[in-house]
Amino acid sequence: MTASPKKTTKTTKKPTARNAKKYVFAFGQKTDGDATMRELLGGKGANLAEMASIGLPVPPGFTISTEVCGYYYDHGRQYPSSLMRTVKASIKDIESQLGKKFGGKNNPLLVSVRSGARDSMPGMMDTILNLGLNDETVDGLAKVSGNPRFAWDCYRRFIQMYGDVVMGVEAANESEEDPFHKVLDALKVSRGVKVDSDLKTADLQELVKRYKQLIAKKTKSAFPQDVMEQLWGAVGAVFGSWKNERAILYRQQYAIPAEWGTAVNVQAMVFGNAGNDSATGVAFTRDPANGKKVFYGEYLINAQGEDVVAGVRTPNAIADMQQEMPKSYKALEKVRTRLEKHFKDMQDFEFTIEKGRLFILQTRNGKRTGLAAVRIAVEMQKERLMSQQAALLKIPAESIDSLLVPVFDPKSLKAASKIAQGLPAGPGAATGRIAFTAAKAEMETKKGNKVVLCRTETSPDDLKGMLHSQGILTSRGGVSSHAALVARQLGKVCVCGAGDIKINYEKGTLTAGRTVLNEGDYISIDGSTGHIYKGMIESADSEVKRVLEGGIKPTNSYTYELFQTVMKWSDKYRTMNIRTNADTPSMAKQAVAFGAEGIGLCRTEHMFFDGDRIDYMRQMILAVDEVQRRSALRKLLPFQKKDFFGLFKAMNGRPVTIRLLDPPLHEFLPHDDVVRRQLAEKLNVPLDFVIERIKALHEENPMLGCRGCRLGILHPEITEMQTRAIFEAAAQILKGKKKVAVKPEIMIPLVGFREELADQLKIVHRVAKEVMKARKVKIDYLVGTMIEVPRAAITADEIAKEADFFSFGTNDLTQTTLGLSRDDMGLFYDEYQRKEIYNQNPFASLDQSGVGQLIDLAVSKGRSSKPNLKLGICGEHAGDPASIEFCQRAGLNYVSCSPPRVPIARLAAAQARLRNS
Ligand code: ADP
Ligand code: MG
Ligand code: MG
Repeated sequence: MTASPKKTTKTTKKPTARNAKKYVFAFGQKTDGDATMRELLGGKGANLAEMASIGLPVPPGFTISTEVCGYYYDHGRQYPSSLMRTVKASIKDIESQLGKKFGGKNNPLLVSVRSGARDSMPGMMDTILNLGLNDETVDGLAKVSGNPRFAWDCYRRFIQMYGDVVMGVEAANESEEDPFHKVLDALKVSRGVKVDSDLKTADLQELVKRYKQLIAKKTKSAFPQDVMEQLWGAVGAVFGSWKNERAILYRQQYAIPAEWGTAVNVQAMVFGNAGNDSATGVAFTRDPANGKKVFYGEYLINAQGEDVVAGVRTPNAIADMQQEMPKSYKALEKVRTRLEKHFKDMQDFEFTIEKGRLFILQTRNGKRTGLAAVRIAVEMQKERLMSQQAALLKIPAESIDSLLVPVFDPKSLKAASKIAQGLPAGPGAATGRIAFTAAKAEMETKKGNKVVLCRTETSPDDLKGMLHSQGILTSRGGVSSHAALVARQLGKVCVCGAGDIKINYEKGTLTAGRTVLNEGDYISIDGSTGHIYKGMIESADSEVKRVLEGGIKPTNSYTYELFQTVMKWSDKYRTMNIRTNADTPSMAKQAVAFGAEGIGLCRTEHMFFDGDRIDYMRQMILAVDEVQRRSALRKLLPFQKKDFFGLFKAMNGRPVTIRLLDPPLHEFLPHDDVVRRQLAEKLNVPLDFVIERIKALHEENPMLGCRGCRLGILHPEITEMQTRAIFEAAAQILKGKKKVAVKPEIMIPLVGFREELADQLKIVHRVAKEVMKARKVKIDYLVGTMIEVPRAAITADEIAKEADFFSFGTNDLTQTTLGLSRDDMGLFYDEYQRKEIYNQNPFASLDQSGVGQLIDLAVSKGRSSKPNLKLGICGEHAGDPASIEFCQRAGLNYVSCSPPRVPIARLAAAQARLRNS
């Protein structure tokens, strides 16, 4: 090649490239864009282009790209120099397609100017319709349509919208009425008419006059008659609206970056207000509330634009169109099918019928409830509109929950009266008698009454009462408060932090505004919405649960079929195992029914609260020497053994990870004087002794004190007893009549040094050997540790030499990495959120960029010294879909979440795999 052709290419290409920077994209006979170009064309523009290119009836137009928005703000609100020319040419294009003229006296072209960001931002800016009308073109439109009333109706609508959106004539504040409405209402009163459609042509002409006067008075400038001036005014208003207060606020709320910008769509008008053979409406291709494959939507005859949502007239249900406009209905049905076939998702679309001709003005993926999300995805797969993988990715993992939670009976709910609002913390519906204490809750339940435990806050002492309640209501504390946490763990309905509610324990009242309720009165709470109602509301168990418990035949529940289908697909595509955090056989059974493949965390401390056990536990804690301690532990041993036996049996050969005693001992001791006295009597020691011991065990910061493996190192006999209980129970299972496997995995908590683990390991192996020898069985077991302090993560290669597995205890790992106590973040959390320091609650969704790095480090260091190290997570994060995706990327073998979240985790794990392979 010689130098000259190179040169030619250079000189010819470079300037063209610069000039040809494409800012305007047509749709219509010729279409430049498509659905993939959301970033450049905005959601609305991209889908208009897509629809036009597949031959759907879209009025022709063009999109000014989001890049122009960026340019506009980078250059002091100026447009690129080529824009004016391109827009003019694009208008010419529309003119020639329709045989109309923009600003023409005879057959004028009117356009709409519409905003359209990448993600829809409803209410950010009002669309301007009927642009191109002025004192001359309005006559042209009257003549060509043969309908002067229609032409003047369009004109008055246009002036109002333009005056408001572009010229800023609007109410000064919320309490003031819209100035255009004021003028319109005055005219209606003087003409004696009730609805706009009764205004005559002459009335509308008068209205136009008064509107123009209003604009002149308020803005000191005239309503523009030049159609090009109108167009640029409208385009400028759309771009300008990107930085208005409303839009900025919206972007903050939904984390939309300001750089994205909006596009502007200019589109030929079609008229739903051209007579009784015309209409405008919105429709969903399926029911967005329940996902049923029915045509869903509404329309208004002889109306335009926002009339449908504005509530001026009550719209008709789409089904009515079958009678009222049968031909249009058929055309609309065809479009419905076509849209779904093409976009492969439920569509929410806008349409207009002009003199019997159907036009589509917008389409997008429709928002839907959780139930609808599941049903639509499953049915669309069955209809071969999408693959199983695509269907799974269409369902927000949390949606599965809406198939599982109990619900209020809709009829009963209608009659109920709402008294307050709290934070929805545990989804579902609960109704019952008010109980102000855990003891009362337990007593009432034993009598056969249903109760809602109502407290200002809950504490670990209330656990049993919570277990006995239908639901939990607190007036203080946020979504990470104890009440909320336990509710999630146990799958209890919970509304927390209902500040409007005052609970007075002394008087035994619960007050909300003027409503005063007493203990024993009925109250109802909806943990999905946070609503609190007075009185009883009938509720129903979810169908899926009733099937799983055997109450309904699987074949008789469609909801169950949906559930099963999604679960089956999830299991097919996921690579991580799903375990559960469960301490009792009943929790374990529920989790297994939901698909849990093992227990990832059994907390043994909960086992020490029941009945007499707490006394032996306290005796053990208060013991002054090993002899006393051993004697108390001997009494606890049979209880522990029985618990583990039950758990192993319920898990039927699946692995069970048991964490040895973890919390600081003072948590087991009574705080109240009466109970302390009782304890002293029971143990036959002086009260002073009890008080002294409790004082001695006091810690300034128990979270960082004598807990976790430190307990077992200090008192090896505790580790010994627990280990013995585990292996005795396992032996009993293996010796049973039925041949069931058992796989205990013993987990040492709060390890930070290899030596800590080594110390406890010795005890475990020794006791295991003893039991196996005495019982003459061989038990397969593992010993591992939790990774829950930064030092453990950092020295994971060392620790892995001792461990068969790691389980990331991300609750504590978050607390210790952030230096933040979960229970003490209430004071500043709101401010942190407002300032976007935490973009989400680090205890609800894993802090991936901080804590996540420690996990990654521990994974690679751990596996570097032990390649087949088993890795899991058992913090609350294991039930959070975003955190589950992190775990997939980190290469963990399993996640372990609370029983009710097992189905969500199965789906989320499948999605994580599909997104990351
Ligand atoms: P939003 O984003 O708020 O939905 P749109 O730009 O979709 O705003 O416009 C709102 C309504 O205005 C549409 O639903 C449609 O009824 C009407 N509209 C917009 N453009 C046109 C047009 N070219 N012809 C007729 N009606 C239109
Ligand atoms: Mg719209
Ligand atoms: Mg912990």
